[in-house]
Amino acid sequence: MEENFSDIQTDGERVEQIFSGIPVVPGIAHAEALVHWLEEDEIPYRKIKPEELPGEIARFEAALVATRTELLEIQQRIATSLGASDASIFDAHLLVVEDRTLIDEVLRNLEKDHFNIETTFHRIAEKYCKALQAIDDPYLRERVVDIEDVSRSVLRHLMGKNPRRIPTPDRPHIIIAKNLTPSDTAMINRDKVVGFATEAGSKTSHSAIMARSLDIPAIVGLGQLFQVITSGDDILIDGYTGKLILNPSQETLERYGRIQKQKDEVEERLELIRETSCVTVDGRHIILSANIELANEMDDVRECGAEGIGLYRTEFLYLNRKTPPDEEEQFHDYRHIAEQALPYSVIIRTLDIGGDKSTESLDLPKEQNPFLGCRAIRFCLNHPEIFKPQIKAILRAGVVGNIKLMLPMISGMDELRAAKRLIDECCGELSSAHIEFNPDIELGTMIELPSAVLVAKWLAKEVKFFSIGTNDLIQYTIAVDRVNERIAHLYTPTHPAIIRLIQMTTQVAKDQGIWCGVCGEMAGDVALTPLLLGAGVDELSTSPCLVPRVKKAVQTLAIPECEELVREALECEDHLSILNLSEGLAKSRYGELF
Ligand code: PEP
Ligand code: MG
Repeated sequence: MEENFSDIQTDGERVEQIFSGIPVVPGIAHAEALVHWLEEDEIPYRKIKPEELPGEIARFEAALVATRTELLEIQQRIATSLGASDASIFDAHLLVVEDRTLIDEVLRNLEKDHFNIETTFHRIAEKYCKALQAIDDPYLRERVVDIEDVSRSVLRHLMGKNPRRIPTPDRPHIIIAKNLTPSDTAMINRDKVVGFATEAGSKTSHSAIMARSLDIPAIVGLGQLFQVITSGDDILIDGYTGKLILNPSQETLERYGRIQKQKDEVEERLELIRETSCVTVDGRHIILSANIELANEMDDVRECGAEGIGLYRTEFLYLNRKTPPDEEEQFHDYRHIAEQALPYSVIIRTLDIGGDKSTESLDLPKEQNPFLGCRAIRFCLNHPEIFKPQIKAILRAGVVGNIKLMLPMISGMDELRAAKRLIDECCGELSSAHIEFNPDIELGTMIELPSAVLVAKWLAKEVKFFSIGTNDLIQYTIAVDRVNERIAHLYTPTHPAIIRLIQMTTQVAKDQGIWCGVCGEMAGDVALTPLLLGAGVDELSTSPCLVPRVKKAVQTLAIPECEELVREALECEDHLSILNLSEGLAKSRYGELF
């Protein structure tokens, strides 16, 4: 992202500057900056004699062992403070220190070139990073951070230095970094760190994932801060809008003080509506459910007052492991979630691997355009040996809980029919094996491709519900990579084409007598709730932390005014006009949520 700041006020010597980035965790923080640029260690460089080789190899092995021990300690610490799912981020780091290809290449080079081990290891690690960086795959690019992080630790051990630690002053501070690595985050004193801001990163980067788990206001993708901010500077970060304010003026501080007070009061009021139902002013019940990625999020789901799970992204079960989960493991996982969600339902989405989600446990092809490649249902139809165990696990868990099965990335009838044939096959096989299952499990499909919208009339005859995946629908309609920060300005949910496609989908669902929800990020954006209600959605499913806000929005709106808004929106030519319409109504009703 480009440098983006403006001097807006001079207050004596102090100049207020505003930087814009991508908001990752909502909230406001004001404290001094703790700048944490990576100081690169100078790598000692020398030729070695043949007789020194065994000694260099021994030092290398010792450094790998020490790094591994250090990583395991960090992982343990994170597992205790944040939970196993966050700790599993370090599995990728551990794989680096155990990677035989990398280690063997280092040893081969050591014997061939006779440079000291620090130089040899540094060169090979850099070569790996460059190779990964050149691949057009956001997931692999993120792995470069892991390799850099690990190789820095190995080098420090080789050089006999202490592991890199972020100094932790005993007073509240905001960490400003190029990119926060998971191991940096693990060292952070959560009582004293009140915010994060990083130059790099997207919403799906590891730093964003960790910041969200820590629930500390955070902004990523701010572009260059390096020459402008130094430790001790006065910083305010606004995790709602993605603004970082250096040297906030008295007036700015007072304004944010008022905002903070309002936000606290809003949170308290939202807490009070947790148990109430999600009904519009004119009495229309909108099912408000939660999206989850992991089984351990069920506590958050219960606490946020959601009516069950509208999207369980099962691919997370397949990540960070060497072999895919078998039918039995999945059956237990799905049953456990379904039991906890009762009396509400759980929509289990079948494996949506590929695109930006990759895993060692599956044999995924390397592709030029992974988002347009063998992703989700395409992969599953090509791999019935992976798909069928998942379908069987879902059908079996359906005996205990109220489970619905949802297919991702369906582009048309052929794929839907092929998936249904496999589901029938699974039913037949479970029957012959006398294994209990639910033969009447409700089947739904995601609508996240423009082609699916255009053939929705026929899809609707084969399923019981639609769930609009706006994250991908936007990506595929506007042809804008959803994880590429350089073109983030083109990723516009209120593009007239998107509103039209949503409206077309809900209309088909209504005509064909099935229900239609939205489970993409649009469902959690209260500025857009009027549009979605006006388009006639029956269900909204969003992250647990956003559920109370969406409930408040729904409870404040009436369907006829939202329908009128959509009629007007359909006459608009550009995304900003539609956004202004929807946000205008939203702000007039629940301005406190903005
Ligand atoms: C979507 O595309 O909107 C969606 C909910 O699925 P995912 O974000 O997992 O692709
Ligand atoms: Mg999707």
